[in-house]
Amino acid sequence: MIRFEHVTKRYADGTTAVDDLSFEVAEGELVTLVGPSGCGKTTTMKMVNRLIEPSSGRIFLDGADIAGVDPVQLRRRIGYVIQQVGLFPHRTVLENTATVPHLLGWQRRKARDRAAELLELVGLDPSVHGSRYPDQLSGGQRQRVGVARALAADPPVLLMDEPFGAVDPVVREHLQNEFLRLQSQVRKTVLFVTHDIEEAVRLGDRIAVYGHGKIEQFAPPAAVLGAPATPYVADFVGADRGLKRLSVTAIEQGDLEQPPVVRLDDPLEKAADRLTAEGSRWAVVLDDSGGLHGWIPLESAASGASGTVGEHARRMEAWLPLGSSLKQAFSTMLQHDAGWIAVLEGDRFLGVLTPARLHEALRRSIDADAQEIAREDVDLDTVAGA
Ligand code: ADP
Ligand code: MG
Repeated sequence: MIRFEHVTKRYADGTTAVDDLSFEVAEGELVTLVGPSGCGKTTTMKMVNRLIEPSSGRIFLDGADIAGVDPVQLRRRIGYVIQQVGLFPHRTVLENTATVPHLLGWQRRKARDRAAELLELVGLDPSVHGSRYPDQLSGGQRQRVGVARALAADPPVLLMDEPFGAVDPVVREHLQNEFLRLQSQVRKTVLFVTHDIEEAVRLGDRIAVYGHGKIEQFAPPAAVLGAPATPYVADFVGADRGLKRLSVTAIEQGDLEQPPVVRLDDPLEKAADRLTAEGSRWAVVLDDSGGLHGWIPLESAASGASGTVGEHARRMEAWLPLGSSLKQAFSTMLQHDAGWIAVLEGDRFLGVLTPARLHEALRRSIDADAQEIAREDVDLDTVAGA
């Protein structure tokens, strides 16, 4: 979908920002460009929508050399999201989102409907946020509007230059999750620039790790983390890549432990019997509809007091939806000082994740990747030998 062929960019002052770059991004693929400041990421991106012209080499979009495409026409096919979103301050969120459809001459009604649909897609309620002005939104919400606006005319390609760089880490992780969900629906061809290796690893189908003006490694996240191609990449990825892996590994059903489960209206005595029978020091407490209420320790259950579980249960706030990252699980454990966290699907309780299980899940992910990398090596050998 996007192809760079021996592209070099030398600025007027002699700086070589991009040096003989060749790579290809497939249709529907999300490629993250990651590297330290000044290594040529933004220059690469701006050459795709012709905000910057290469000094030499060629760039193809959908098979056509973009040097021969009118820049205005070109940019209609390319959504562009940057860190300073650049929303129009005196236009409402809905009007901002409908900017490109308006420019394209869509009917007012159709443009507004499309804008509302997009706002919903990025997690904003058009009836609440649509009529607000940009300065009435949080930083994270403004970035969402930026994404909605870039998608409004349904361009096949999306360029994103550090779009979540200016928001705090918690909001950033939310935006990343939402963007992944969004991308699974819209399947754009995306070039995503970041200086944050963790962000690159979480979002990218493949990652281009930049050294100065050059790509040092272009591979899926697991390969970059598991088998850095050069000492430079190893250094950039960091010694703590086991930790980074936490953020790309999701909690799965098989990772969960099944402690005894009791109900709020169970008699206390019954809970004590269950705990003793299963040799457990605590039980999970569910409400009538099977939702998580909390937990009850053996001491309380076996205290000999009368009444129901509900009268002695403790609330439990440490929970996550299935599919959350191991990193989220770990930080939730720390935040709540909890020895385990509950994992839910919708409102349904699925089981609990303990530190030991978390460690096992991490091992599972490393082993799986090690096998994948080994297979890739074998394939390469076969090709080379053929
Ligand atoms: P990144 O986005 O990775 O931080 P850039 O692509 O912005 O890097 O910049 C790459 C290099 O090109 C840097 O050394 C930068 O100083 C230089 N550069 C960027 N824009 C210009 C310009 N307009 N004129 C001269 N040098 C530039
Ligand atoms: Mg930049």
